[in-house]
Amino acid sequence: MKLLRNFTSVSLSPRKRPPTCLVIHATVGGLTSSLSWLTNPASQVSCDFLISKAGVVYQLNPNLDQFYTWHAGECRLSGQPFNANAESIGIELENANTGKDPYPDLQIESLNALVADKAHKYAISVDRFYRHLDLAFPKGRKKDPAGFPWKQWIDGFGSQFPRLPRVIVHTLHIRSGPATIYPIVGRKLYGDRIVVLEKTLGEDISGNNEWGRIGPDEWVSLRWVEF
Ligand SMILES: [Zn+2]
Repeated sequence: MKLLRNFTSVSLSPRKRPPTCLVIHATVGGLTSSLSWLTNPASQVSCDFLISKAGVVYQLNPNLDQFYTWHAGECRLSGQPFNANAESIGIELENANTGKDPYPDLQIESLNALVADKAHKYAISVDRFYRHLDLAFPKGRKKDPAGFPWKQWIDGFGSQFPRLPRVIVHTLHIRSGPATIYPIVGRKLYGDRIVVLEKTLGEDISGNNEWGRIGPDEWVSLRWVEF
């Protein structure tokens, strides 16, 4: 993987915690115009990496641990507002985004090397690999990366990465604290993948008193979660 750092984005925000997901894009424009656009302060857009069709990786973010870039715009995840820029590493693939323009092997090989490196470094689960079109709000606002063989890539290359914990009960109530005396504030369904931000000991549920925090004031009993 050839990595170049001779182009740098300037539209940056301070990153407060490590990235937890990846967002894959298509540039729509060609390589030269995309590099120029993503490094131009007037564009108000930027990205962490751009991978050319020839497989050259341009690192546009001068320091991934210090800054996040502006590539995803307004996003939703599971229906909730989601600050995808702050949470993610954004990767642009040079592609016309027509659905017919191919993603050459050299480009995919570099993508795989980059994603393997970052997903291992930041412990990012394959369930947290997203396409821009999966997150962009309103739905349909973005179509990139059109034509990328997503399912094949996730099922193949993605299978080496860990999966997130999974709900194994029909309905899992989300409560505002780690016990059933707390009000129900939402629910997860069988098979849903969850991000456990923190664990604590709470009410014993069928022999298991571990609870997991999955949001600001959102707790679920881990009795019903398979790790
Ligand atoms: Zn995009």
